[in-house]
Amino acid sequence: MSFFSTRGKSCVTASQAILSGLAPDGGLYVPAMFPQFSQQMILSMVDMSWKERAVQILSAYLEDFSRGEISEMVDAAYSAERFDDPAICPVTEIDASTALLELYHGPTLAFKDIALQLLPHLITRSARKNGEQREVAILTATSGDTGKAALEGFRDVPGTSCTVFYPLEGVSRIQQLQMTTTAGSNTHVIAVRGNFDDAQTGAKELFSSAEFAAEMNQAGKVLSSANSINFGRLVPQIIYYFSTYADLIGQRRILPGEEINFVVPTGNFGDILAGYYARQMGLPIKKLICASNRNNVLADFFHTGSYSTHRMFVKTISPSMDILVSSNLERLLYETADRDGELVSLWMKQLKESGGYHIGEQRHDWLSSVFAASWADDRETKREIRDLWQQTHRLVDPHTAVGGCVLGEYRRNTGDNTFAVMVSTASPYKFAQDVLSAIEGDEAVQSRDAFECAARLEEITGVPVPPQITALRDAPVRHKAVCDRDAQAMRAAVLEEVCG
Ligand SMILES: *Cc1c(COP(=O)(O)O)cnc(C)c1O
Repeated sequence: MSFFSTRGKSCVTASQAILSGLAPDGGLYVPAMFPQFSQQMILSMVDMSWKERAVQILSAYLEDFSRGEISEMVDAAYSAERFDDPAICPVTEIDASTALLELYHGPTLAFKDIALQLLPHLITRSARKNGEQREVAILTATSGDTGKAALEGFRDVPGTSCTVFYPLEGVSRIQQLQMTTTAGSNTHVIAVRGNFDDAQTGAKELFSSAEFAAEMNQAGKVLSSANSINFGRLVPQIIYYFSTYADLIGQRRILPGEEINFVVPTGNFGDILAGYYARQMGLPIKKLICASNRNNVLADFFHTGSYSTHRMFVKTISPSMDILVSSNLERLLYETADRDGELVSLWMKQLKESGGYHIGEQRHDWLSSVFAASWADDRETKREIRDLWQQTHRLVDPHTAVGGCVLGEYRRNTGDNTFAVMVSTASPYKFAQDVLSAIEGDEAVQSRDAFECAARLEEITGVPVPPQITALRDAPVRHKAVCDRDAQAMRAAVLEEVCG
């Protein structure tokens, strides 16, 4: 299978796409076509383990990796030491027509682990396949969860280093501690005085700077990305859409061939895009419901066909979705534009120069047949956390709760009561303060720090605090670098951290 850039003509192998992250023209790599999975193939997954399902999906895209190589990588990535549930991504019940897809059983308690436990294997093997001798220097901007997941994935992996930029004021206390306490001789964490879009824009600028590439080269390093712009981040996420469907058949909650809906809490559009790819591969998905917080640029886009970043950036209690420029939307635009790279380039140019673009009525109609979208504010999100707890005894994090709000609204407005899967993207304990205040009110958090909130949450719900959270309490802070939000400051910070 070849991979094309969303903005032009470049055509590379899977391992080249994974190694470089971003295409030279600034576009994202997309597969030349979507491999097809028949109903029979999907049914055959019902009796497979997660690892067997993973090998099926990955093999369909990664043609320059042998099945043996893929099995080895999958075995190493999804081991029992790293995931606390043998199903890896278990599907559990909320009510008769709703399931919860739990994507937070990995080492950093967020869905990013599903891809970032595999990515280091993909990248180091891709480097070898392409004769790359230099150290692969991973550079990643994070809205909170990618950072820690990338650091854990790449920590002490020979031939790599991992540098993470996070917005200084934009992540939860637990998220920040998770990153700044990371061990490993090849990990670097830099706080940026700005928001996530500033960090992501700066990182993208570094990626497209020939001068910076030359500086890194001189130090014996080649850049790559662990953000979801990298196809290697996307492809492992397709697995759990298929795996969920197979599990629901196995649990006799749906019939073979039955269409289902997914609601996905969305920021950079990577998670939900993997769902779209699964749908294109033949998985019976009726609607993909895109859930945003107050940074509702995507909800507006799906409603109007116009993307506009002319709005205030808002800090919310679902910080991993505090994003105004969703990188992976470009991959959906490419499909919307009938794979016309020039049209995508034009929209991206308009986005850069005037902060927005419009895709036209026909294309918008087509999008609306596949996607629904809405958003929820912090107050609604907290109410959803409380209601879900009181009514179903399911404890969810604020991101997942945004999805719950939007699913409820979608069902009320459309009457579509198709079986729905709520994609649950993080452990509630990553956001213990906000979750506790949702359940017990603001007074309950006033005199408690994040760890005390977690302990109280365990006390009232009986849901155990994950050991990863408890361990943070006494872990020494090892990373203290801070830089300004412009690309030059970020460049200097990387050179100092990584090249010494
Ligand atoms: C990253 C993240 C999201 C958003 O996922 P995208 O792929 O960026 O759309 C949602 N929830 C949590 C907890 C996350 O970490």
